[in-house]
Amino acid sequence: MTGVESRQMRNRRAVLAAARFGRPTTRLEIARMTGLSAATVSGLVADLITDGVLVELAQRVPAAGVAGGRPAAALAVNPALGALIGIHLAHAGVRILLAGVDGAVRAEHAHDIDVEHQPADTLEYVASTALDLVADLEIPHRELLGVGVAVSAPVLLHSQTLSSPPMLSDWGEVDIAARLGKRMGLPVHVGNDADLGALAEWRLGAAASADNFVYVMLSEGVGAGLVLQGRLYAGDAGAAGELGHVTVVPDGLICRCGSRGCLETVVGARALATTLAHSHGPTCSFADLISLAHQGDPGVRRLLGDAGRAVGTALAPVCTVLNPKLVVVGGTLAQTGEPLLTGIRETLARNVSPVTNRTPEVLPGALGTGAEALGAVITANQFADLG
Ligand SMILES: [Zn+2]
Repeated sequence: MTGVESRQMRNRRAVLAAARFGRPTTRLEIARMTGLSAATVSGLVADLITDGVLVELAQRVPAAGVAGGRPAAALAVNPALGALIGIHLAHAGVRILLAGVDGAVRAEHAHDIDVEHQPADTLEYVASTALDLVADLEIPHRELLGVGVAVSAPVLLHSQTLSSPPMLSDWGEVDIAARLGKRMGLPVHVGNDADLGALAEWRLGAAASADNFVYVMLSEGVGAGLVLQGRLYAGDAGAAGELGHVTVVPDGLICRCGSRGCLETVVGARALATTLAHSHGPTCSFADLISLAHQGDPGVRRLLGDAGRAVGTALAPVCTVLNPKLVVVGGTLAQTGEPLLTGIRETLARNVSPVTNRTPEVLPGALGTGAEALGAVITANQFADLG
């Protein structure tokens, strides 16, 4: 292969990477993202359309991030190229998505299961359910391009395995990518769930215009995903964004991570339900709490405001150090909206240093509790060979 050919291939891959799996884009936007000239992008896009990899849509879209940009023809990856599977392994439940390469969700399934203590049963459940969804839609196996898995634990990037000691207690020896790959006959890519939630909100949701933002996932567990200078930041050992394990009560409860007084011991699902036991009864569950929040229960509103302030306390130094434009709040607890978000906003306004010039805006996630599974689809897409 000559140097010219290899540069062309490299540029083609860069154009495709910029166009794939996000909102419909434009030639101008691809040029901005890749740093390639408008003429080069135009030629490569024409080739990709001829090869059936990209399609030009009837709609016209404004050129995001380009001053004075006029609406231009929208480009998207050809949905006929295939389908992808996204799986979210949370602590106490799983979610499975089947989506096209254009990001359109074709089927979705959520199920409560004790993920933490039943790795073998959980993996068999998600594999068989995903393949059932594929069969229901009569999608041939050859059109499946890959599987992404979002897991509630730090993931080592080089080996795709969970870091040790594992934050999912019974998953220490489980190679998720190898086990699912063998069972499903597909390539499998594994990532941390908060990181993949951040990826989804960045490509398709509330943070679409931000190159620097923090995604906070408040569910059974608590985590964060960081997008810095237009890249997902995973950290040296895949453990960046472990906001749930920032100490907020120095003499507080011992946490499952081995530390003390972590944010998760204050605002994790179990901690919140336990705090309600005195007033609402010992059987009050996290699901009950979410339901009571929607009914406007005053005790639950107070609890959620306090939870927001605890999250803000852990998050404020992160914002002072990283200077993000946005904080996007996702996960099950974010579905309660106010007063959780108000608690976070108040604490950031008070505690983020004025040296950052501007307190980051705090927004609810746009993708709901499916963000992490959608992020898993996006990561599977990034590794798929679309041509
Ligand atoms: Zn901890």
